[in-house]
Amino acid sequence: MIVANWKANGDIKKNYLWCETFQNLLDKSSFNYVGISPSHIHFHQLNTFFKETNVMIGMQDIYIEGGAITGSISAEMASADGCSFCLVGHSERREIFNEDGNLISKKISSLLKNNIKPILCIGESFEEHKAGNTRDKLKSQIIESIPKSYVLNELIIAYEPIWAIGSGKTPEAEEVNSIHEFIKDVVQSATANNIVPKVLYGGSVNDINASDFFDEDSIDGALVGGASLDANIFANIVNIYKRLKKI
Ligand code: PEP
Repeated sequence: MIVANWKANGDIKKNYLWCETFQNLLDKSSFNYVGISPSHIHFHQLNTFFKETNVMIGMQDIYIEGGAITGSISAEMASADGCSFCLVGHSERREIFNEDGNLISKKISSLLKNNIKPILCIGESFEEHKAGNTRDKLKSQIIESIPKSYVLNELIIAYEPIWAIGSGKTPEAEEVNSIHEFIKDVVQSATANNIVPKVLYGGSVNDINASDFFDEDSIDGALVGGASLDANIFANIVNIYKRLKKI
């Protein structure tokens, strides 16, 4: 799966041009594994544009409940509007909005209750990476985020080293592959029915480095921020994925 994270970007006009361009660059079968998460205010626009296709339109965040929570939306509202997946625990949410494992776990429960696929984002800081603490950090993020009250049937994880996000720096693809194997093992042991998650890589993916990542067996796709704002580049990434994964 290749997922675009548009963050706080986009407007009605630009989005429309993006969608037209993207649609013209890909054949229909490529849409089967594309997800786009625009801002909440543009969700409906994108969902309407792609409604006759298999492109999944998701959200970047929800709150655990609705009602008197100014500025937020609930998973129930997202679901009623046709949301199929949602990012959870992105490092920008953890850092700017102080989100911790306890809240993230509640968000995952709330999404599952409303039939929305969560994409759990995890990743280590540069200091943790340098100190050799990446695996410990990822393991604790996974354990604290998996809801205790739910038996998961599937899970998508996005491994995003914080130091690689928006920086143009990336870890070696082989190193990412070995971390993805580790993540799959941890999730398998931590879940009641031993599920093996799909693991996406995120952090400065573009159409030049994408083939290095997709050549690796345990890299099941990508979460793409900056490069997804350009429809041509994002379509190139999807085409590279399709060619290398032979799907
Ligand atoms: C992200 O923030 O999820 C991300 C992957 O960003 P970028 O591709 O810009 O590094």
